[in-house]
Amino acid sequence: MICPACEHNMTEMDVQDIKVDVCVGGCGGIWFDGYEIKKVDEPHEAVGQDLLEVEYDPDVVVDGSQRRDCPHCVSIVMMRHFSSIKREVEVDECPSCGGFFLDRGELNTLREQYPSEEARKEAANEMFGDMFDEDLDEIHEVSWQRVEANKRLGRMFRFLLPSFYIPGKQKWGVF
Ligand SMILES: [Zn+2]
Ligand SMILES: [Zn+2]
Repeated sequence: MICPACEHNMTEMDVQDIKVDVCVGGCGGIWFDGYEIKKVDEPHEAVGQDLLEVEYDPDVVVDGSQRRDCPHCVSIVMMRHFSSIKREVEVDECPSCGGFFLDRGELNTLREQYPSEEARKEAANEMFGDMFDEDLDEIHEVSWQRVEANKRLGRMFRFLLPSFYIPGKQKWGVF
């Protein structure tokens, strides 16, 4: 699979029972297949660590302002879907296959800014609070796909940052 951000050839990695495509030796971005994300339903401890230690080429500069094509589908442009947590973290989502692309720096930002359990919980409240506030306005015209996408997104964050998991907290049943 070709990296949507830098066009490097991505490497498939097994992270516990989930397959992710990682841009090893390129930009270090991570692709989560929509189908694989659905399999995330158990808390995974410290899973994100493997992904943080991915080798990348510091000379590869990605243009975060460009829309990107889905690496899985043919000529589907991904949506820059979500940029909560102080509006610093953005995720590219494919409206067709439900996959997500996360830039390497975005995962690091999450980890570095919220190093403690406490800070992550606080951020999770803020992040998911924002996400659902935004969606409340639109929920009537639904947005069933939106709800499904949010579930996948929630699972992805849970996979990457297990401390974000707050049992019973999400009324929309993200977790
Ligand atoms: Zn890349
Ligand atoms: Zn796609």
